[in-house]
Amino acid sequence: MSTVAANLAAVRERIAQACQKAGRNPQEVKILAVTKTHPAQVVEEAIAAGVDAIGENRVQEAAEKRPAVRLPAFWHLVGPLQRNKAKKAIELFDLIATVDRVPLAETLEKLLANRAKVMPVMVEVNVGREPQKSGVLEEELPPLVSFLLSHCPHLQLLGLLTVPPYHPDPERSRPHFRRLREVARQLEAAFQLPPLQLSMGMSEDFWVAVEEGATWVRLGRALFGERR
Ligand SMILES: *Cc1c(COP(=O)(O)O)cnc(C)c1O
Repeated sequence: MSTVAANLAAVRERIAQACQKAGRNPQEVKILAVTKTHPAQVVEEAIAAGVDAIGENRVQEAAEKRPAVRLPAFWHLVGPLQRNKAKKAIELFDLIATVDRVPLAETLEKLLANRAKVMPVMVEVNVGREPQKSGVLEEELPPLVSFLLSHCPHLQLLGLLTVPPYHPDPERSRPHFRRLREVARQLEAAFQLPPLQLSMGMSEDFWVAVEEGATWVRLGRALFGERR
């Protein structure tokens, strides 16, 4: 078994425990392998090991890497997106998980409409209200969702993503994960949406995120070890 496969098995075990604790079905929880800084060969190892999708946080890095990956996979953009990279992003990625403002949604919509292509997206929410972080603030979320639903037929809203404030104690992330789930349930009720996916939890707190309802955990170091 490759190191990545062994790490993935350990992660799955931890997810299963969290699901048991929370009364959830482990099949509801997908694993996004975040492969930033790692070469194409590592991405292939992750795909071969059976991760559910690949995540990259920079358009340029993905542009260099994805053509070198021979195995099919579904790729999420999980880092902030500038409008001038939107064109490249929709060509490279299968899902953009960091839509966080109307002008970006408008740009993506135009580009996708021109290509008659529909793209799944997630909205990034800054639940911790950190000024330096990307993501929409909670109170700006309903207007953004409303804009997506009414003006962006080529963007299919699949869920929400968040990166809570960093803290070495994973329990400190819990209220933020819980808040994202609550916000999702409110949006579903207000806009009559099907259940939104929740992309939350990273290597140091993913089991807490699973207990709080994550449907995607985004893992780098737990699968690949420390980044160089
Ligand atoms: C790097 C990154 C991750 C994975 O981080 P780890 O701590 O290595 O698991 C998850 N989400 C985003 C947005 C990232 O940039």
